[in-house]
Amino acid sequence: LPEQEAFDIEYWLLEEAKLQRMPKPKALAGRVALVTGGAGGIGAATAERFLKDGACVVLADIDEAALLQTADDLTARHGKDVVRKVQMNVTSEEQVIAAYADAAVEFGGIDILVSNAGIASSAPVEETSLALWNKNMDILSTGYFLVSREAFRLFRTQDIGGSVIFIASKNGLAASPNASAYCTAKAAEIHLARCLALEGAEAGIRVNVVNPDAVLRGSRIWEGEWLDQRASTYRTDKEGLEEMYRQRSMLKRAVLPDDIAEGAYFFASDLSAKSTGNILNVDAGNVQAFTR
Ligand code: NAD
Repeated sequence: LPEQEAFDIEYWLLEEAKLQRMPKPKALAGRVALVTGGAGGIGAATAERFLKDGACVVLADIDEAALLQTADDLTARHGKDVVRKVQMNVTSEEQVIAAYADAAVEFGGIDILVSNAGIASSAPVEETSLALWNKNMDILSTGYFLVSREAFRLFRTQDIGGSVIFIASKNGLAASPNASAYCTAKAAEIHLARCLALEGAEAGIRVNVVNPDAVLRGSRIWEGEWLDQRASTYRTDKEGLEEMYRQRSMLKRAVLPDDIAEGAYFFASDLSAKSTGNILNVDAGNVQAFTR
């Protein structure tokens, strides 16, 4: 090579090496996420994932004590400037509207909604009371509608697009025994997401779904009546259920809250800038294996 050309190449290689060593900007820096059900389980894991990548997070939950504890834990790890909390019930229109107003004032806006707050409660259809049916519909379907409607209203006034992520369930796609109320409410969430994706696209508002398979470890759903119902349906205990879900999956692996958080992170970040109306099953391959 002529001397000047060799010098230029060496110069640019050194510059490139310097760039490689520079800290990369965090993918969610400057973004604000509202996470419903953020006081525990999948919601808290998602908040932690977003905070690690530079986001500010508002935890929204009905459970005051758990909210306080999780907000304190996250603040201790990430600092007081990036974590806020708001107590609210996703079935209360008034509380949801007020929570958005508070959150938007705290951080000057919201860019990401993770609609995740939920319960799991079901029974064989002949034992499903109207109250049980309505509880599933209220918290899951109607709750997801209310929080996403307020996100849309805010996103439209901000006029910078936004990302809505629904944590739905594998049970919204595939039937599960003795769980018609829960499965139907989860199916409604998934279809709501498709409809909202269409409505929001022109304004740059993306709406996507993450469907967890059973996440037994780290979820409070599996500490209460849902555990008893699943255990009696499958005639086993918690360990037996965990093993059953693992064996049913293609990958033979248990799904954890952090795995769901990675899916939510994908849809929150620009990695998924061209994805909307999509469903990501984080299920170790269970949905496809189950329906084969
Ligand atoms: P979790 O119980 O650990 O967390 C759910 C959170 O939602 C709790 O902090 C709870 O206080 C909050 N919440 C419940 N009702 C509320 C209401 N009315 N208003 C506001 N907050 C409310 O459970 P998780 O496993 O982390 O579940 C999160 C989401 O994932 C739920 O929507 C659940 O249906 C879905 N999901 C969970 C599993 C699983 O096996 N854990 C599987 C598929 C889908």
